[in-house]
Amino acid sequence: MHVHRPVSAPRRILVRLPNWLGDALMARPLLHGMRRAHPGAEVRAVGPAALLGLLFPERTFDGASAWPARQAPGSRRPRAEERERVVSEMRAWRPDAALVLPFSFSSAWFARRTGATIRVGYAHELRSPLLTHALRRPARGEQHLSREYFALGGPIGVGPLPSADPLPPLIPPPEAEAAAAGLIARAVPDAARLAVMAPRSAYGPAREWPVDRFAALARRLVGRGLAVIVCGTAAERETCRRIAAEAGPGVASLAGETDLPTLAALVRRATVAVCNDSGLAHLAGAVGAATVTLYGSTSSAWTAALGPRVRVLQHPPVCSPCFRRTCRIGYRCLTGLGLDEVDGACREAGA
Ligand code: SF4
Repeated sequence: MHVHRPVSAPRRILVRLPNWLGDALMARPLLHGMRRAHPGAEVRAVGPAALLGLLFPERTFDGASAWPARQAPGSRRPRAEERERVVSEMRAWRPDAALVLPFSFSSAWFARRTGATIRVGYAHELRSPLLTHALRRPARGEQHLSREYFALGGPIGVGPLPSADPLPPLIPPPEAEAAAAGLIARAVPDAARLAVMAPRSAYGPAREWPVDRFAALARRLVGRGLAVIVCGTAAERETCRRIAAEAGPGVASLAGETDLPTLAALVRRATVAVCNDSGLAHLAGAVGAATVTLYGSTSSAWTAALGPRVRVLQHPPVCSPCFRRTCRIGYRCLTGLGLDEVDGACREAGA
């Protein structure tokens, strides 16, 4: 580890955000802590455009530059030029400090190329020489990922993490509220109370509760007077539609029809959100919705969604957490989560 003096008053702070929705939401304690510690500093965030758009209204950062995905859709050519433009923009801005939240070599290399005087990240993938503060990364699951991110602020005087949860709820912008209201009115016109489901996970089947149980749960919720909206990405549309079709009237899929702020506004209106360990679970938790999160192969101690009303259901077998995307022994961690148990958690949330 390279040892440098903590920088107590950086004026320009660059934050390279994580690339995944859940991870970016777990960076919120750090972003808020940075604002508290350095109210006069100018903070700029770099990350995927959709995540910047979701987080920008909180004003934990003053400016944002979208970091393009590695490849343009349908193209095999890296978006090298766009990335170079972001690097030049940041270098011209002359950051005093760069906090690198992703664990990749390339993100540390990006920070190095911006010329930031202080560059903080975890030691990983031989990237320590690129960082001025290469922190030792705790073993996976030893502490919550939000705490891992928060610790990256230490070298610039952020912290300690307050013991009481100081995180304000994520508030979607008014236009997202209007869009969500329009979608709900179209999908489930007579809904007095709403439940939201997120039955997929980008990570893979080892984080996905069985589809037929989601459909059965949706039927029970409809039986108690709720309408159910099944959410997901465009790639997850088929599963979401299948659940809606199996569950019957009162259940509709809006997979692929929402951007993140609209999804945040939609889930904020829900009496309960039932989610796999996925980005939507984190989003539901962040807006303060009652969130029932179903855990499979991963560690809830490490990555449970943050939020005042998040409930984790997990029955870890001895093989858990394996962090695998698929399972060779029958997904016992997921099949062990019974319909009655999940439904019971929904009832306790008022659904
Ligand atoms: S090996 Fe165990 S923890 Fe991993 S997916 Fe299979 S049942 Fe779940």
